[in-house]
Amino acid sequence: MQTRRRSYVRLAGCGNGKMMTKSLSKSIWNDVLEHVRLHAPHLARTWFSDLDPAELSGGVLMITAANAPRVRYLNEHCRRTFAEAAQAATGRLISVRFECDDNTEDTDVLSFDNDGSLLKLSDDYLFGNFITGPCNRLAHAAALAVAESPGKAYNPLFIHGDVGLGKTHLLQAVCHEFKHRQANTNIVYISCETFTNHFIEAVERGALHQFRYRYRHADCLVIDDIQFLAERERSQEEFFHTFNTLYQSQRQIILSADCSPAEIPSLEERLVSRFNSGLVALVDRPCLETRMAIVLAKTKLRCIDVPDNVIKAIATHIDSNVRELEGTLAKLTLLSQTQGGRIDIDLAMEALGITGPKPLVSIPEILNNVSKRHNLRLSDLQGKKRTKSIAFPRQVCMYLAREMTNLSLEEIGGYFGGRDHTTVLHAHRTISKRRQENPVFELELQNLQTTLRNGS
Ligand code: ADP
Ligand code: MG
Repeated sequence: MQTRRRSYVRLAGCGNGKMMTKSLSKSIWNDVLEHVRLHAPHLARTWFSDLDPAELSGGVLMITAANAPRVRYLNEHCRRTFAEAAQAATGRLISVRFECDDNTEDTDVLSFDNDGSLLKLSDDYLFGNFITGPCNRLAHAAALAVAESPGKAYNPLFIHGDVGLGKTHLLQAVCHEFKHRQANTNIVYISCETFTNHFIEAVERGALHQFRYRYRHADCLVIDDIQFLAERERSQEEFFHTFNTLYQSQRQIILSADCSPAEIPSLEERLVSRFNSGLVALVDRPCLETRMAIVLAKTKLRCIDVPDNVIKAIATHIDSNVRELEGTLAKLTLLSQTQGGRIDIDLAMEALGITGPKPLVSIPEILNNVSKRHNLRLSDLQGKKRTKSIAFPRQVCMYLAREMTNLSLEEIGGYFGGRDHTTVLHAHRTISKRRQENPVFELELQNLQTTLRNGS
């Protein structure tokens, strides 16, 4: 492990030396964050820059976050990573603890997991992180309107669509927004399965009274995946009464499902008509533009730098499900860690599972194609002239030779008038950069590569 000589602590507190607490110096703390971002980009969040390394004592670094959900996120996912980063940055054995800035507990959303424990709202599922497009504009606008005036705008709000298209994200965004606007609102956010499990349990234990109290006193009832009510007659009956009680007292009800109310198998007609009485909004598959915007947003959220052509490749190849887009991005990040942080189109193809042996082409094929396109003679490309109209197509040839043949840099240089390997490397870098910066050029090069691969 690397050790550092420079002082890694600053002293804070009163001047007389008593009760002094130590903390990390700013630059060391920056190193810690940098280490985390580099080694665990999938865990990094933009709000990490707001964290405060409040105190260092007895080998324990206390890190303060702004609110309870952040502390929860850090405790669940980041403890080891931060400890390793602190050790790398200071050269000392340090463990970490996270604590909350404002001491408010995260109790204003009453939500239960399948086993009855607390169901966690994801910190990332905020309106601010939701990308809109023609596919989800209505659902998003309705969710926002409901968050602004619960019980008044649309009641119930029913959001439906295929899996992985953002229903849960929108439902949780509304819960976050409620929490933010009115800390004391009693929100019950729950999966449909939990509702039915609680109901069955309550019947078995003779505790229906408590069950009803829990659900019928909610200011806002949010139930995810309500299609699981299908075929469950008694739960449907109970839910019908819960619904009516809440609805009559103008409490907000928000539901999601993988299909429209009428398509939920064997759902009682009276429930179908209740669900249809508010607003029913579809989230559809996103178009290419929206998918690209989503991938870009996710890279920003995770603080990873991904070139445009990679974003486009991912969004083009995965066209049905946002969760899969995220999965590919996570895979890409992991793969890039094995490559020293490099993220490029080849790695993206690997993450997308579109690998196979690279079809090899020969240098003469490359030279022929490029010379025709640029109206040049072969001897120009292989000669010494450095005018731009020749030098640039020559760089394209070298780039393609590096990408599409198994030749070494020296061998490639040899084909181009005995140029050395640094010239070839430079050409490769120049063209890679241009591919990222210039979409028209990128398209031209993709066409050229396809032509070469197809052997024409
Ligand atoms: P569903 O509940 O419809 O199955 P989720 O809400 O769980 O889907 O979404 C799956 C993942 O895709 C989540 O991580 C979510 O943040 C992301 N996602 C879906 N749609 C969008 C969007 N429009 N903008 C940003 N992220 C999205
Ligand atoms: Mg869901």
